[in-house]
Amino acid sequence: MTTAHQQHALPSYLNPDDLGPWGVYLQQIDRVTPHLGNLSRWVETLKRPKRILTVDVPIERDDGSIAHYEGYRVQHNMSRGPGKGGVRFHQDVTLSEVMALSAWMTVKNAAVNVPYGGAKGGIRVDPKTLSRGELQRLTRRYTSEISLIIGPNKDIPAPDVNTNEQVMAWMMDSYAMIEGNLSTGVVTGKPISLGGSLGRREATGRGVFVTGREAAIKRGVEIHGARVAIQGFGNVGGVAATMFADAGAKVVAVQDHTGTVVHQGGLDIARLHQHVAECGSVTGFPGAEAFLERDAFWDIESEILIPAALEQQITADNAPRIRTKIILEGANGPTTPEADDILTDKDVLIVPDVLANAGGVTVSYFEWVQDFSSFFWSEDEINARLTRIMQDAFNAVWSVSQEKKVTLRTATFILACTRVLQAREVRGLYP
Ligand code: GLU
Repeated sequence: MTTAHQQHALPSYLNPDDLGPWGVYLQQIDRVTPHLGNLSRWVETLKRPKRILTVDVPIERDDGSIAHYEGYRVQHNMSRGPGKGGVRFHQDVTLSEVMALSAWMTVKNAAVNVPYGGAKGGIRVDPKTLSRGELQRLTRRYTSEISLIIGPNKDIPAPDVNTNEQVMAWMMDSYAMIEGNLSTGVVTGKPISLGGSLGRREATGRGVFVTGREAAIKRGVEIHGARVAIQGFGNVGGVAATMFADAGAKVVAVQDHTGTVVHQGGLDIARLHQHVAECGSVTGFPGAEAFLERDAFWDIESEILIPAALEQQITADNAPRIRTKIILEGANGPTTPEADDILTDKDVLIVPDVLANAGGVTVSYFEWVQDFSSFFWSEDEINARLTRIMQDAFNAVWSVSQEKKVTLRTATFILACTRVLQAREVRGLYP
């Protein structure tokens, strides 16, 4: 006989001592629950991913040996539409991480009101250890393994950490071969020649900039002359750096996986991009005044700080040292709940990941719509629509935060979880 308690006990994989990023997400849900009114009776739905697929991805290495990698696709919630979210290739990928990332996609997609649920995928692999041929075989086999649950109306992958247009092209091709027909809308972030969208590559960084501009107005910070420190110089941090520099801000520090380059007068971002393209990292950039060890990055004073790398970077250890006015979360999950509280007490305005970095999936949505209609928009049209959506989302979140006296993160969760649970409630339970 099952007791009521057993019925509500979490499955064992959700219940270990250290829940990792998924534990962070659960704490965020606990903070929003008191604000959900009658919808809170559905909140358990947000604490359990709808579907988790773990796959073995074997490939033949160039030397003839066989290597196995562990891959995942998690569909967290599909109440508002098909699953949507990226695929990451990284040596530290875990199920807990992919679960959290899929849940943040649910919140993010609802926050900007694109008609998607949340999903995410990943493979635990360091892609730098693979040749191009091995990477292609890995991508194709992974796509084949998850082809059971993805599709243009089911779940639509996209790029994330260490995946790009080429990886999306291989995913689309593999899916087309398996299905026997070509449906470009099965992935987004594709090359333009394959139904990709103009502006998609820059979209996440652009969204970070647009929400940053709105936050700066609220916080009384002038972008022109503002000091900006950025962790990560990839698709998100690199684009945000260019946009802030073009708007007259001084990008005083950029950190990548090798170290930090600093220039108090503002780094020359165009030259830094060139240096990274040639040398593979920011280290050795001749335009820098100083090079710092990784951890010293958190001591650099700024008006705007942009973590745009991986999760759990701003913690209770370094948060007390941070001197800035606004944090724009370009990365997913960069701030732990303890650090969130420390910084909020210090009056730092945090624009949360689920809002600040939603520009990428917003243009993914435009790409998917363009693929379905086979009618492609101009870059100006895309950027104008993206800017409007990001501004409107920021201002809606701002109003909720003022009204309920909560942080922008909790306000974003209130807006988004309300949308998800309203859809859940009106759909009702099947059967
Ligand atoms: N990987 C990106 C994110 O974390 C984009 C996902 C998408 O475009 O579907 O938001």
